[in-house]
Amino acid sequence: MTSAAARRRRSAREAALARVVEQGLLGPEQPLLGLLDVDGIRSSVDALTAAFGDTPVLHTFAAKACGLVPVLRLLADAGMGCEVASPGELEQALAAGFTPERLVLDSPAKTVEELRYALARGIAVNVDNFQELARIDAIVAERPATGPIGIRVNPQVGAGTIGAMSTATTTSKFGIALRDPGAVEAVVEAFARRPWLNRLHAHVGSQGCPLSLIAAGLRATYELAEHVNAVLGRRQITGLDIGGGLPVNFAADEDDPTFADHVAELREAVPELLDGRYELVTEFGRSLLAKNGTIASLVEYTKSAGGRRIAITHAGAQVATRTVFMPEAWPLRVGAFDAHGRPKRTPEEIQDVAGPCCFAGDLTAVGRPLPLLEPGDVVALYDTGAYYFSSHFAYNSLPRPAVYGYRVVDDEVRLAIVREAQTVREVVLESGAAHVHALVDLGSATSSGYPSEHDRPEPGEVAV
Ligand SMILES: *Cc1c(COP(=O)(O)O)cnc(C)c1O
Repeated sequence: MTSAAARRRRSAREAALARVVEQGLLGPEQPLLGLLDVDGIRSSVDALTAAFGDTPVLHTFAAKACGLVPVLRLLADAGMGCEVASPGELEQALAAGFTPERLVLDSPAKTVEELRYALARGIAVNVDNFQELARIDAIVAERPATGPIGIRVNPQVGAGTIGAMSTATTTSKFGIALRDPGAVEAVVEAFARRPWLNRLHAHVGSQGCPLSLIAAGLRATYELAEHVNAVLGRRQITGLDIGGGLPVNFAADEDDPTFADHVAELREAVPELLDGRYELVTEFGRSLLAKNGTIASLVEYTKSAGGRRIAITHAGAQVATRTVFMPEAWPLRVGAFDAHGRPKRTPEEIQDVAGPCCFAGDLTAVGRPLPLLEPGDVVALYDTGAYYFSSHFAYNSLPRPAVYGYRVVDDEVRLAIVREAQTVREVVLESGAAHVHALVDLGSATSSGYPSEHDRPEPGEVAV
């Protein structure tokens, strides 16, 4: 059974695909783009907010899932905060208009500079380890922090089905490993000595982690907070940042599991978490954006090799990095559309769908039954709104594609540019064009490598 929400998602996506082809935004000159469903994003935020009901929560969006400023702006407008984990993400969030009290800075590798910046502005910081805590001691000694400061813990509840996405394993690189000898005592001690520490943070998993595992990790985190407050005889821990990590269904348009499923699991495993005594913060990423994004590519060529049909598209490892390198863990649904961007209804045949990168494994689907693809057709990769076109991988110096947001209003598709396509000139400039002579000059004191000074281009002056 398909829900009304899934039907809307699909019909809006199909309307948008036809529209970008009709408008020539997707075509021979721009054979690849990303699409975002604006109403879908808003309804994902609504579903998250509704799931927590009356419990006071600051819902932040994990910027790494889709670090595009207009997307962050949309989420700010929908009432969210933002979780950032690098200077770039922090600046993107500020550019999107998030105020400091709606930001959370995570990251296992914060520099002194980043810590100073965040603490001076009252941005919430989650400390990853005791060395980082010592740095904060030094900064706070000069100037007291105004925002919340928490310690990230790793409840070590175990892994999900994707090792690289499992943050709560015994040997995970994140947070203070709670089950290690002496760890709980060390955390209690840290709070006892620092009255300005007032939060615990846990992000238990991501894609591939069952809801029960996430709930078990948050139960351990809640119990630690109660323990710390009991030992100290005061409610020093006032906030719990419970991370993100709700997995996404890559097999259908349906949201499954839902935010409501997640909260139901929490109510079962750790009901006290939601009773309002702790200020909660969430940090969802994939579950808010993934199903609201699509990669669209033209089919450039088709061929047959060893009996297998192959469609060569412009969407490969540069935009679908995880799927290409870990196809079992990150399978994507593929849609076949004709040259007008309308669904192809011809009989299905087994095909591979390949990308443009120059390595043999650059395939987004292998042995997939699809209507037979032809040059000029359009291929869509579904559920790619998080960690796909927004997390570009610069292999083969392929440019970042344009991204458009869409809404369907009264059967009419409205489009808005989110990000322009990177130009080839930008690719060249970003690859050190300003230093074109640097290595030749380093190798020879006398020769520039050019027959005469006249032939030597100015730095940054590159024919593209
Ligand atoms: C990546 C990350 C998130 C978001 O994870 P999703 O699986 O996208 O929900 C939240 N918090 C932290 C600390 C993260 O590293």
